[in-house]
Amino acid sequence: MKHIKHIFFDLDDTLWDFEKNSGQVLEQLFAEFDLTGKLKTDFVTFHSTYKKTNSQLWLQYAKKEIDKQYLRNHRFNLVFKQFDYDNYDENLIITDHYLNRAPKGKHLKEDCIAVLEYLKQNYQLHIITNGFKEIQYIKIDGSGLRNYFSNIIISEEHNLTKPDEQIFRLAETLSGAKKEECIMIGDNFTSDVEGALNAGWEAIYFPGVPDKNYTGRSISHLKQLKDIF
Ligand SMILES: [Mg+2]
Repeated sequence: MKHIKHIFFDLDDTLWDFEKNSGQVLEQLFAEFDLTGKLKTDFVTFHSTYKKTNSQLWLQYAKKEIDKQYLRNHRFNLVFKQFDYDNYDENLIITDHYLNRAPKGKHLKEDCIAVLEYLKQNYQLHIITNGFKEIQYIKIDGSGLRNYFSNIIISEEHNLTKPDEQIFRLAETLSGAKKEECIMIGDNFTSDVEGALNAGWEAIYFPGVPDKNYTGRSISHLKQLKDIF
């Protein structure tokens, strides 16, 4: 990896444990708003439906089929409707609570800080994240990540979303890097891995569940980066 000078990380579920931080808040809200009674389901079913709905909405957002306001204002009600419950106003109240609480979560992926300490000795570290700026900065600052990174590139600030090649070109410009010096590490195959490879970068796939079908470079734990770099 001698040719690599710049390591770009995705944020959610690569460094910041979105699954855990978001899951904890959803579980609180599920109880506080008596969603068991209203949706006639359990939290596990609700949570998996929420995650599916949310990732579909993010795909639509990336394709510019919907805007941020739509994504935010309809997300919970779209989940509710799948359980034959429709309450737009309550959906907005839950959205407010969720957006207030979830970014304040401090759980990072295991060994995150130790690995960043190790990598920063020999590489410039950066973040490229698809997300909203006010939310992503709360996560980054609240969990102590900010000082490890030279550049933090948030999709909304530049109106570019991974896997768009242009966000990788922008990252090169901002960090003064050549594409052959860059590698992207992330949990999302399409946004992080395919996006980076299409841009002529290298990539390391870090899926939540090990993916046997992927033959490229991948890790199942951040500490494995110490063997690669
Ligand atoms: Mg991610």
